[in-house]
This record gives sequence, structure tokens and C-alpha cells, in this order.
Amino acid sequence: RAKEARIHYQFYNDLMNEETAERLALEQDLTRALERDEFVLHYQPKVDIATGNIQGAEALIRWYHPKKGLIPPDKFIPLAEETDMILQIGDWVLRTACEQNKKWHTAGYTDLQIAVNLSAMQFGQTHLVDRVAHVLHQTGLPSEYLELEITERVAMQESVTVIEKLQQLTELGVQISIDDFGTGYSSLSYLVKYPIHAIKMDRSFVSEVIDDSEQALVVKAILSMAHSLGLHVVAEGVEELGQLEFLQTYNCDEYQGYYFSRPLPAPEFEVLLAQHLVR
Ligand code: C2E
Ligand code: CA
Ligand code: CA
Ligand code: CA
Repeated sequence: RAKEARIHYQFYNDLMNEETAERLALEQDLTRALERDEFVLHYQPKVDIATGNIQGAEALIRWYHPKKGLIPPDKFIPLAEETDMILQIGDWVLRTACEQNKKWHTAGYTDLQIAVNLSAMQFGQTHLVDRVAHVLHQTGLPSEYLELEITERVAMQESVTVIEKLQQLTELGVQISIDDFGTGYSSLSYLVKYPIHAIKMDRSFVSEVIDDSEQALVVKAILSMAHSLGLHVVAEGVEELGQLEFLQTYNCDEYQGYYFSRPLPAPEFEVLLAQHLVR
């Protein structure tokens, strides 16, 4: 038995070492990814439910690793968040997304919004508001065409500075939306106190509106609550026509999801734009 346990332990140990080694390697590669130009943004359309027009896009980062190929954000954003690498990466995302949207505006899509995800650490940095103002100034994108997505978890850090920052961003003219709404906390009082433009209803709600009548009730309640507070609602992860029809019936404002389009490289997004947006 002792021998068996030892072998088992050895196996477990090797496995852990392998995982740790792989993680370390990835972390090292990550520090060089920016200067090596390995990141790229994909854009997922945000679609107006009533008209079917593309209102804007959410910028989502991808990492083209020279050996491992495409690495999705779930695999490296948490790693970047453990160090302060996320700040440089986040800066790059913000600048690149604003630059891209400015190009689209110049090409004639003058109403297009761009949404950028902010990590907890990025939101927490002292000079966030200055950074955002600087990037807008540098790129020439009018502030009302930038939307910042912060997760419910970040928004709920019960502190004065959160509200203050949101206030300052709003004064800049930037819009704020609450990402992954409904996944984290039970308190909803922040929705009243904070200067928020929209909530993004998490995919987990949308996925079951057709099969689960209780889930459908929850979604209806979220929509009616948000609307009575003057908030827009964006549904995430719409994959089927039935889900879209449900959301249409209950006056959800916008949606994103594979049903309309996956996140796309800029040139492919432009093809969609040409087809779907009234200039
Ligand atoms: P998120 O902000 O909630 O983004 C939505 C995720 O859902 C994206 O995954 C998107 O590709 C995916 N998605 C969209 N429509 C559908 C659908 O119909 N079905 C399904 N199954 N999935 C759908 P992605 O691009 O892998 O990003 C994952 C997460 O990584 C994001 O979740 C966000 O939290 C984070 N992330 C992505 N880009 C950035 C970034 O530039 N900065 C930061 N801080 N985080 C980012
Ligand atoms: Ca998001
Ligand atoms: Ca989300
Ligand atoms: Ca999410």
C-alpha cells in the first residue's frame, strides 16, 4: 500500500510540476507577447433588437502564440491579472479598439459604438480616468462612442472610489455597462446609485428562456426592473432564433451572440457592417 501511495504521489507530483512549468512558460511568453505584436482584437456585433442594425461591437482579445496557436482570453487574462501585465495589455486593448472605431467612423459608420472590457486591476488603477481621456484624445474618437464594460464583481466593491470613478468617466462622456449581470451578487442597490448606461445579462440566463419557464420569468423580471430604472439591457450569448424572439417580445434592447455572429477579425466585421448597418 505504501508503495502504491508513493507511486501515486510521484505521479501527482510530476503532473503538478508539469502544470507549473507550463504555466511559468506561458507567463514568460506573455511578457513578450505585446512587444512581439501577438495580440489581436476580434469584434462581436452588438445588434439593436428592434431594428436588426449593428449598433456597435465588443472588442475581445486573442493571443496568437507562435507555437501554441490561438489562445483564448480565459487562458491568459487571469494570468495577466495576477501580475500587473494586465495594465499594459488593457492599455493596448483600449487604444487599439478606439483607433479601430475611429477608422470605422472615418469610413462613414459614424454611429458605431465600441465596447472595451476593463479588468478589476485596470479599473482600480489611480490614473484610469486620465488614461481613458488620453487615449480618446490621441485617437480622436468622440467619448460617447466608447463604452466600458466592468463586471458586477468590480462594480460591487462597496466603495466611494468606484462611484467616483464611474462619475468621472460619465462626465468624460463615456458609457458604462455592467458585464455578466446576474452572476455575482444579490444586492441590486448599486444599479440605482451608479451612473450606469446598460446591463449585460449573462449568457446563463438567455440559454434557458425557451426550455425553462422559471428562467423565462427571471429574464422578464430583469428586463422590467432595468427598464424602470432607465437602463438598457444587452442580452449575451444568443444562439437561437427562439431566444431572440423571446427577447424581442419582452423588449430587450440589444443582443450579442453566435446566432448573429461570432467575434470577428476587423476585416470580416467590416463585411458584416456593409450588409447590416444603415449608414
Ligand atoms: P465576456 O466579456 O463576458 O465576453 C463574452 C464572451 O462570450 C466572449 O468570449 C464571446 O466570444 C463569448 N460569446 C459571445 N457570444 C456567444 C454565444 O452565442 N455563445 C457562447 N457560448 N459564447 C459566446 P471570449 O472572447 O472567449 O472572452 C471571454 C472573457 O475574457 C470575456 O467575457 C472577458 O471577461 C474576457 N476578455 C476578453 N477580452 C478581454 C479584454 O480585452 N480585456 C479584459 N480585461 N478581459 C477580456
Ligand atoms: Ca464583456
Ligand atoms: Ca459578459
Ligand atoms: Ca463572462
